[in-house]
Amino acid sequence: MKHFSFREDDPFSPIRYEYEVDRVLCARRTKYQELLVFESPQWGRVLALDNVLQLTENDEYYYHEMISQVAMHAHPSPQEVLIIGGGDGGTLREVLKHQNVKRASLVELDSEVIAVSKEFFPTLSSSFADPRARILEMDGAEFLAESGEDFDVIIVDSTDPVGPAEVLFSKEFFAKAATALRTEGILVIQTESLHFHRDFICGVQQKLGEIFKTVDLYTVPLATYAGNWWTFSIASKTHDPRDLARSHDVPTRYYSEDVHRHAFLPRSLYNKMMGED
Ligand code: SAM
Repeated sequence: MKHFSFREDDPFSPIRYEYEVDRVLCARRTKYQELLVFESPQWGRVLALDNVLQLTENDEYYYHEMISQVAMHAHPSPQEVLIIGGGDGGTLREVLKHQNVKRASLVELDSEVIAVSKEFFPTLSSSFADPRARILEMDGAEFLAESGEDFDVIIVDSTDPVGPAEVLFSKEFFAKAATALRTEGILVIQTESLHFHRDFICGVQQKLGEIFKTVDLYTVPLATYAGNWWTFSIASKTHDPRDLARSHDVPTRYYSEDVHRHAFLPRSLYNKMMGED
């Protein structure tokens, strides 16, 4: 059988991945981006924005568990959680696994990403029906600047740092996040591939280090993001995010206490990368 294919065109990556396509389920231009959902023989349903793969049904849990569960377990009692971006609902699903969460606010710029996830990705978007979920359709940086609300954990689950997501990687934005975080607050940001974006990652770490007491970097192996060795920058006001403040008692497929501890970059490698040794 002849397959069509989808070739990524990621301006932030030096490599192009190509996926076989069984069937296109949705292709349209939203106010903000090109949106594509297709079925792939290998990965199940796939979401792409502006020709950059965002998630696949078959491996999304690696990314969504790791962007959420590390901070959720490093904080002793996360009750108010803010997710910026994440319109597919995967990060929200992970956060809401925790019974002590009273409210999880998701601030997504593009309401059509949410709508498409509800239609095509029920295992992610079922989280939107949880009564503790609050969905706001606006720019995450504007929300932080205007809302005056405070949070225990803030998770930035954005697209690559170009276009509307660029502001989410600025020092001004990190300072606003620090103001919005409570005393024990933790901020997590997806920061691209350790193979391809080392200078970018070091830049984020430096900016965060000028604001937060503890800044660190952990990674997850991802089959479907260009560069594969994906990083998360984590910044904390009180607790060392390498330590679990609570035992692991939510259902996960990849995340575990061992994974939490081993996900962080060895200190020697971290220091070398940051030019500190
Ligand atoms: N897991 C994905 C990845 O790393 O490739 C991210 C997926 S999620 C769908 C990213 C979302 O961030 C998109 O839906 C996009 O609309 C949203 N986004 C980008 N910039 C934003 C901003 N400034 N405020 C709120 N949401 C934003």
